[in-house]
Amino acid sequence: MAKKTKKKHKKIKKGEKYTVKDSELKRKGKFCPKCGSGVFMAEHKDRHSCGTCSYTEWKQKGEQK
Ligand SMILES: [Zn+2]
Repeated sequence: MAKKTKKKHKKIKKGEKYTVKDSELKRKGKFCPKCGSGVFMAEHKDRHSCGTCSYTEWKQKGEQK
């Protein structure tokens, strides 16, 4: 998708806050069940993750790998 560029990994605090590869960060995602409404979860290909509390919710299809 993205062009192949050599670049060093950025230091990311708290694990992966926003690692968006396939799709852009969607604003109208789902809310984090822990943080409550107002905190969106980042949508990944196979999971949703909250950047605030690091809560990760795997999508139903398949199993986590
Ligand atoms: Zn959260």
